[in-house]
Amino acid sequence: MWKLLQWIKSTLTPKTSAKRGKQKENGEMRLSKHFTQAEFEKSQTAIRKGINNRMTAENIKNAKALCEHVLEPAREHFGLPIAINSGYRGDRLNRAIGGVNTSQHKKGEAADIELVGGSNWDLFRFIRDNLPYDQLIAEYMVNDDPRAGWVHVSYRAIGNREMAFSIGGADVGFA
Ligand SMILES: [Zn+2]
Repeated sequence: MWKLLQWIKSTLTPKTSAKRGKQKENGEMRLSKHFTQAEFEKSQTAIRKGINNRMTAENIKNAKALCEHVLEPAREHFGLPIAINSGYRGDRLNRAIGGVNTSQHKKGEAADIELVGGSNWDLFRFIRDNLPYDQLIAEYMVNDDPRAGWVHVSYRAIGNREMAFSIGGADVGFA
């Protein structure tokens, strides 16, 4: 009901605030129980450089699948919040941060995540051993600090490759 009232209000207010209201409404849209579209689109680089980083319907569909099949089950298992450091990256943002052109972040299929108040190694292991994924990468994680680095995980509707590896830190063999 509250959302409906907000929407009605946004359609009745003058043009500039209506626009702001609409952005807020979209930004608060849930992709799944614990994850929002705004979390996927948020980027300090995009804000600083004035880059529009809004997802398309196709991107949203992909991000929803990632939430449903990977992020929500992991969140449920640990009972801890999962922070999305970087989710969707539109073409301009991806180029601005020097990401590879084939990055699954560009499709909304990938997220860089951390287990808040927990171990990123535990998060990595749980996904690897229990959930479907396309690529799972321990990025800049180190053996003796469970909060260092982050976990990159991607999911696609068809043809998940289940590739798990590490870059820039401890070897995945440690996990
Ligand atoms: Zn990533």
